[in-house]
This record gives sequence, C-alpha cells and structure tokens, in this order.
Amino acid sequence: MTQSSRREFVKTMAAAAILAQHGAPPLTSSRIDVHHHRTTAGGGVKEIAYGYDTLKADGVHIYSSIGDKWPGDPMYLPIYEELNRRKAIIFLHPTPPLCCKLPPGIGAPVVEYDFDVTRGITSLLWNGVLSKFQDIRFIIVHSGGTLPVLAGRIQDRVPRNRPDLYPTGTLELLKKQYYECAHATFPWALAALMKFTSTSNIMFGTDYPQEPIESTTKHLPENGFSAELLHAINRGNAERVFPRFSNAIAN
Ligand SMILES: [Zn+2]
Repeated sequence: MTQSSRREFVKTMAAAAILAQHGAPPLTSSRIDVHHHRTTAGGGVKEIAYGYDTLKADGVHIYSSIGDKWPGDPMYLPIYEELNRRKAIIFLHPTPPLCCKLPPGIGAPVVEYDFDVTRGITSLLWNGVLSKFQDIRFIIVHSGGTLPVLAGRIQDRVPRNRPDLYPTGTLELLKKQYYECAHATFPWALAALMKFTSTSNIMFGTDYPQEPIESTTKHLPENGFSAELLHAINRGNAERVFPRFSNAIAN
C-alpha cells in the first residue's frame, strides 16, 4: 500500500475520517496493484492478505481501469474470490483510461473519469463479478459517474444467453452497491442517484485535495434533504459499512 492510495481512500470517506477524529483509528485501505500482476492474480491475492492481515486494512481500493484491462477482466477472478471470502469493501475510483481519445483541450477529469467509472462497474457486471461474489460491497465514487442515467440502457443490453450472470436482475445488482458523492452533489446528479439506489446506500465524500471540499459541501444543501437524510449521507450510512468507527464513538 502506498501513501497516495491510503490518502485516496481516506479522502473519499470523509465521514469515517471525521469519526476517526473522535478516537477511532484512521481508515486504511489496501490498493491492489493488479497491473504488477498481469500474468498471475496470485500476487494480488498475496497483497490482499498483507493488506488485511498485517496492515489491518478496512477495505480495498481499485481503479476503474488499468491499462487495457477493466476490473471485471476474467484474469482478476481469483482476486475477487479472495475478497469475497473476506467480505471486502472495495472502493472504485477512476483513472485516465487508455481506451479513448479526448477532444483537444478537454482533460480526462472533465468527462472521461466518470465514463470510466461506468465502464468499470459495467465490466464487473458483464463478467459476473457482481453476481458471483455477493459478499463484496462496492463503493462507487462520484455518485456513480454516468451509471444512474445509463443503467436502464445497460440492463436492456445484457446478453440474454447468460442468465447465470444476472440471477436477480441487472438493476438489482447495480442498485445494491454503495455510491459516494464526491463533487457530484449537484441536485440533478443526486436526483438521478436517489431514483436509482436507496438513500441508505449513498455516502459523503469530497475528492479532497484534488477538489476543494466546497465543491461537494456547497451543493449538498441545495437538495432540500431532511436532517435525518443528511445525517445518513454525512455519516450514518458509512457507520453501518465501517461499524468500528461508530463503536469507537459509542465507547
Ligand atoms: Zn474523484
């Protein structure tokens, strides 16, 4: 695990970080450097063991893609088997994908990051990761990228000859994941997300320091949420996923 990967995970789980200020140990994650293990997933499995057993990681951080591989690539299935056995929480954040040529002057963070979030979760769906490894909980950044808007079209295009991949239905597999709202609390973005998933699956995050915290906090109040719902998004939902932070305050 590198310092930057630890920071990446912590920054997007600000609710848990706030809890840590009240006495809980800091949230830690283990980034699986799958791009170092192109020929064998065994190295990734070893990293998982080190992250959980030695570093006592709270979760695992993966990228929306690495090189020409998206996270549902069959070569990674042994990694998901191990993460499923550990009932892992996986945080998925985008990185500039290699697949796509951008219009001149438009950097990857403008739109491409969130397209790759959608590619990443669709890759997990298409290859059966979401259906086969249901003890894994995914936290998907930026209010799901473009997924809440595209999920209906995705559902209508899943291969009809592979019902084994979607035993409970495509939308159910996508809706049951967790969605973190860094720099995506604009009312129109959260309106789509709240129609798509349960309010108990939405978590606060900020993308700090790449983004100012205000790019998330400024727009959250514009949604007209009740105090109860704001509490759930700001920390309550994260406490259920990472109960040791809740317990730390209670004790
Ligand atoms: Zn981000």
